[in-house]
Amino acid sequence: MSRDLPAEDFRTAMHRVADLVADYLEGVGDRSVLPPVSPGDVRRALPAAPPEAPEAIGAILDDYLRLIEPNTTHWNHPGFLAYFSITGSGPGILAETLAATLNNNAMLWRTGQAPTELEETVCAWLAGMMGLPPESRGHINDTASSSSLVALAAARHRLPIDVRVKGLAGRPDVPALTVYCSDQAHSSIDKSAIVLGVGQENVRRIASDGDFRMSVPALAEAVARDRAAGKLPMAIVATVGSTSTTSVDPVPEIAGLCAREGIWLHVDAAYAGAAAICPEYRALMPGIERADSLVVNPHKWLFTPVDCSVLFVRDPALLKGAFSLIPEYLRTGESSDVTNLMDLGFQLGRRFRSLKLWMVIRAFGVEGLRERIRLHCAMARDLAGWIEADPRFELAAPVPFSTVCFRARLAGPPEEQDRFNERLMARINAAGPFFLSHTGLQGRYTLRVAIGNLRTEPEHMTALWELVTKSLEEVAA
Ligand code: PLP
Repeated sequence: MSRDLPAEDFRTAMHRVADLVADYLEGVGDRSVLPPVSPGDVRRALPAAPPEAPEAIGAILDDYLRLIEPNTTHWNHPGFLAYFSITGSGPGILAETLAATLNNNAMLWRTGQAPTELEETVCAWLAGMMGLPPESRGHINDTASSSSLVALAAARHRLPIDVRVKGLAGRPDVPALTVYCSDQAHSSIDKSAIVLGVGQENVRRIASDGDFRMSVPALAEAVARDRAAGKLPMAIVATVGSTSTTSVDPVPEIAGLCAREGIWLHVDAAYAGAAAICPEYRALMPGIERADSLVVNPHKWLFTPVDCSVLFVRDPALLKGAFSLIPEYLRTGESSDVTNLMDLGFQLGRRFRSLKLWMVIRAFGVEGLRERIRLHCAMARDLAGWIEADPRFELAAPVPFSTVCFRARLAGPPEEQDRFNERLMARINAAGPFFLSHTGLQGRYTLRVAIGNLRTEPEHMTALWELVTKSLEEVAA
C-alpha cells in the first residue's frame, strides 16, 4: 500500500473502531484498573522490526485488541482514583476523531480559520463559566506544564532585562531571578524554572500552614530577603487545588503582595479551576480574577481527553512580546487584528484541541458539568465522613473538593506506620477494581483518593470503603 486506505476499507475499519471504542467504554469497569503485565512483557510481544510489506488494517486492529488495549492502565475506569483521575468522555472522543480527520494545524489564522476562532470563543466561554474577568484571554496548550512555562516566560519578559534578545548567560547586569511557590506546588513550576534559566536553586518553596496553604508572612519575608540580597523576583505562583491535598493558597493576600511588589501572579488551578464553574466552589477560590495568568486543565476535571490545558492571561500583548517571531514564510496579508495562534506561545504547530472542549461543553451543558463536579465532591465528603467515623483511620487533610487524603492509624513509630500504609495501599490496588496513589504529607506516607472520573458513582465509593476496611484487617493480620 503506497496510498492511503481506500475509502471503502477506511469506512469498514472506522465502523469496527466505533464498535471497539463503544465496547471498551461499556465494559471498562469490569476490568482490573491496573493491567496484569510486568515491565518488558509488551515489548517482547511486539516485533522488533517494522513490516516491509503492508499489513491489513484488520490485522493491525486485532493486534491492538490483543496487545495494547488490555495491557495498559485504564484511566477511563470508574475505579481509577489515583493522581487526578480524568475522563476521555464520549463527546471528547468523537471530537478527537474529527480533529484527526481535519488534521488542522492552526499556527496561522490562514491555516486554520474555524479552529482559531473556535479556540478564542471556547476559551471565552470557559472564562465566563469560571467567573474570570471578561478581558481574560485564553490559549490552549497541551498540558499545565507547558501553560505554566509560557506564563512564566511572559513574567520574565515583563522584567526590564530584555532576556528575549540578550539571553541570561554571561550578563553581570542581570541578578538572579527568583520564583516563589508553596512547598505544595507542582513540580512543573520547578521545571519551568529549569527551562527559563531561573534555576532550581532560585525557586523559593515557601512553607505552608497546617492546612497546606502557602504562608503569606513567610512569602513576604522571602521576597524581602531576596530583594535585600539584590535578586530580582520574577513571579509568585499560587496553587488553587494543590496536587497532594487540593489545598487553596490565600490568593487575595498573595495578589496584594504581588501588586505592592510589582511581581507577576500566576495561579496554578490545573485541577480545581474546573470547579470554579460551580458558584459555591468558585467562592473557595477568591482572588483568582486578580491573576496575571491562570492555568486550568479541562483534561483534568472537565471530562475532555488528555491533552487540553487552557492558559488565561490578562495581557496577551505580553505573550506576544515574549513569543511572536514571524519568519518570512509565515507572513500573510491578513490585518494585524487577526489572531495567529503561533504568536501566543513557543510552539508553531498545534493540535486542534478546542474542538473537543467545544463538543464536551455543548454535549454536557454547563449545568451537566456542574452536576457531575458536585457529585464528585459529595462522594468525597461521604468517604471523608466514613474515614472520620472509623477510629482505625484518620483524615490527613481537609477535603475542599473531590480528593481525600487519609491513612490508617497505628501505634508505633512513624516509619512503621508508613510501611503499614504502604502495604495497605498495595493490597487495595492488587485487588483490581480500584487504583489509588499516595503522597507525602508532613513527612508521612498518605493514601489519596481522587474522584474525577465521569463513570465513578456513589456505589463505587461504598465498594471502595469495603475494600479499604477489609484490606486493613488483612494487612494487620
Ligand atoms: N499543576 C497541578 C496542580 C497539578 O496537579 C498537575 C498535575 O497533576 C500539573 C500542574 C501538571 O499537569 P500537566 O500534566 O497537565 O502538565
